[in-house]
Amino acid sequence: MTSIDTKCVQAGYDPKNGEPRVLPIVQSTTYAYDTPEAMGDLFDLKAAGYFYTRIGNPTNAGLEDKVNALEGGVGALATASGMSATMLAVLNLASAGDNFVSSSNIYGGTYNLFAVTLKRMGIECRFVENDAPAEEIESKIDENTKFIFVETIANPAGKIADFDKFSQISKKYGLVLMCDNTISTPYICRPFEYGVNVIVHASTKYLDGHATSVGGLIVDGGNFEYLGNPRYPLFNNPDNSYHGLVFAKDFGNACFITRARVVGMRDLGAIMAPMNAFLTVLGTETLHLRMPRHSENGLALAKALESNPAVEWVKYAGLENDPDHAKAVKYFTNGYCAGMVSFGIKGGREAASKFQKALKLFRIVTHIADSRSCVLHPATTTHRQLSDKDLEQAGVPANLIRLSVGTESAEDIVNDVLNALIESQK
Ligand SMILES: *Cc1c(COP(=O)(O)O)cnc(C)c1O
Repeated sequence: MTSIDTKCVQAGYDPKNGEPRVLPIVQSTTYAYDTPEAMGDLFDLKAAGYFYTRIGNPTNAGLEDKVNALEGGVGALATASGMSATMLAVLNLASAGDNFVSSSNIYGGTYNLFAVTLKRMGIECRFVENDAPAEEIESKIDENTKFIFVETIANPAGKIADFDKFSQISKKYGLVLMCDNTISTPYICRPFEYGVNVIVHASTKYLDGHATSVGGLIVDGGNFEYLGNPRYPLFNNPDNSYHGLVFAKDFGNACFITRARVVGMRDLGAIMAPMNAFLTVLGTETLHLRMPRHSENGLALAKALESNPAVEWVKYAGLENDPDHAKAVKYFTNGYCAGMVSFGIKGGREAASKFQKALKLFRIVTHIADSRSCVLHPATTTHRQLSDKDLEQAGVPANLIRLSVGTESAEDIVNDVLNALIESQK
């Protein structure tokens, strides 16, 4: 199974003789054993097996193994949401008193987690602009820095991470590079190939692809040496909750994901429901068909917007004159840029409201990245607490409209938007 298309359809579940062809939903919290010794070995991590669904579940394993295969990692962990994936991944590296460096062009929920909640827990996020020069990024790093965080395609700003720049810095300082690969998906971009060590996902978006299930994943690239690296005591010091086991020694290149499961998930419990794992696996079976379509439709719409008199600017890396276009060509499969297109509408908030009301195919929802086209005006919804000046600073100006382009016909999509733009200017 070498092609990613084949992996989308088949990876992660391989039934034995007489077993169900489709990944079954194992709706069970517990698993039965014949002897207490057999169960005891599982608790000591001496043997592999299921004993409680918070730590592992066969349906979740089907999703984990598939996304791991798509990303090219050494192991994955399914979580209750994209936010819990990021939270668990961060806490797997950082403790109170530690810090990390993050691009400021990231998903709004992640920004809040980093800027407010983690800060209250004593973990400091040092933000840098996506395009910041290497020297500025390096000036934020000290001996308590635990990782660098970027988003492949930033939601909603549409900027693309410069993997070469960030991975050169992380290698120079012996730091983990973590990446949110939600909007690109492994079909479009596989960040482990560009020096990323840990990937997080909101499977809520394109992996599910049909807006049925909130969920997340952490994937371990197995390409970072924790053993002996003084930045990472959690992997090098004996863990008393497992009889003094040393993760970097005992689990080798899969130590990150093992610890995320047996410590992080054990203690924080943000597990994905098996039903959601099943639905997400079903979604991934068409990922290789949907992502090119989302990308082609996104590009068709972005081109139509570019020349429209009601549009002040368009942000879509698939456009040849976009400042992020060269990165899309360099890092993305066939230059595909998925279906998230942002633009600035002439006439600000009032025109934005008229535009949304006039759309027929695009519905107003707080979501992106499913088969149905949808629209969001951040200034009056997700970012409504921010002033126009704050919006500008966050890279989400008041006239920004975020469109998530679905898999309907490109002609219907473009016509719907062009009609609504005419209405917006009346
Ligand atoms: C939606 C999203 C998240 C958060 O995922 P949830 O499942 O809603 O918790 C994180 N990162 C990105 C890029 C997202 O788009």
